[in-house]
Amino acid sequence: MAQPTFSTHLGMVDILPGEVEQWHTLERIIHEEAKKFNFEEIRTPILEQTELIARGVGQLTDIVSKEMFAFERGEDQYVLRPECTAPVARAYVEHHLDQRGGTQNLYYIGPMFRAEKPQKGRQRQFHQFGAEIIGAQDPAADVDIIALMMSIYDRIGIRNTTLKINSVGDPESRKIYTKALKDYLRPHLAELSEISQKRFENNPLRILDSKEQEDQPIVDNAPVITDFLTDETADHYKRVKALLRELNISFVEDPHLVRGLDYYTRTAFELISPDLGAQDALGGGGRYDLLIEEIGGQPTPAVGFAAGIERLLIACEELDIKLAEEDMLDVYIVTLGEKARSWAIKHLPRLREAGLSASMDYIGRSIKAQMKDADRENARHVIIVGENELSEGKFVLRDMKASEEVALPFDDILEELSA
Ligand code: AMP
Repeated sequence: MAQPTFSTHLGMVDILPGEVEQWHTLERIIHEEAKKFNFEEIRTPILEQTELIARGVGQLTDIVSKEMFAFERGEDQYVLRPECTAPVARAYVEHHLDQRGGTQNLYYIGPMFRAEKPQKGRQRQFHQFGAEIIGAQDPAADVDIIALMMSIYDRIGIRNTTLKINSVGDPESRKIYTKALKDYLRPHLAELSEISQKRFENNPLRILDSKEQEDQPIVDNAPVITDFLTDETADHYKRVKALLRELNISFVEDPHLVRGLDYYTRTAFELISPDLGAQDALGGGGRYDLLIEEIGGQPTPAVGFAAGIERLLIACEELDIKLAEEDMLDVYIVTLGEKARSWAIKHLPRLREAGLSASMDYIGRSIKAQMKDADRENARHVIIVGENELSEGKFVLRDMKASEEVALPFDDILEELSA
């Protein structure tokens, strides 16, 4: 086949017919589960102010320092959103959503953009669903967020997962811990990988989730943040764990879990799947009590998760989970001749009004080619219309699966098919 003139950009993927049906099912499940948990959907623009993401996600993160699709237009700095927590927090502040009273339980589904090196499970345009509870400090909110995330995977049948949790502390405990960590790492600095050496000064916590082989023995023996938590934060973490146990949500504690986004405080979690390969995180999240103040709102505690749709679909494929049945067409009208075609055009609306999906040939193919087309479209029934049928007022209705035919007036066909 000839090389096409245009193709998608690197790491950007078309979702084609045949695939998109799975997305519909998944989106329906997300909407249904979110409703059960009393979350409301929010849709924010794809483009945000670059400064919001820089401040919200954190200057030193990979996302902001290396992976933003950002551009200028006139006076304004635009970025294609790399995640949706900062945009949701912006919308919360901008529209004074706190004045609606209570906590704001919000969820979203949509595309995100990060200029990462594409590989399996890692794209430059990918999709996330996620949820946020804004305005609650209580561990019950952390646990309800995790429960919502887990219930979506459970509904789909992805159950062979590991939920990792940690507490990344509050600013006070993080300050003391960062010092202890740096004191520990300093004598090993030369043995660390290049990337970890770079992170030592400005972002030493990220060294903990290094994937580099040479860092592992050093990281394994590093002090852990949970030994440095303030009493209040330690108590919060204890209560989160107790509630998870009460809900029978199993988890493992991972003191090296820090996650790539700066805004997390206290609870951090990640859901891992052995069915994903190297990019094994289905989703993750945590508490971000400082974000809303950071972007100009009143101090407001919040907790949320974000999960990747493409990775979820990879897991489904590995586990042989079918999210969507093959699409079927209820009726295909096969026509012979011009008169039959105009009859078909006029009768398609009646089939569709009766709630049936219906189509016909538009390009004057032979009967044989039309039957083949009906097969390709997975038609349940075919109505065959030619000169004779038109003059007799009876049409052949063929049940494609049973290979049976009857000749009936159109009204009777309609009745039979809508029964
Ligand atoms: P994060 O916003 O980095 O916490 O990511 C949350 C989830 O989004 C991850 O666990 C992945 O499932 C998914 N994700 C993040 N980045 C990508 C990417 N570049 N391509 C595909 N999925 C991604």
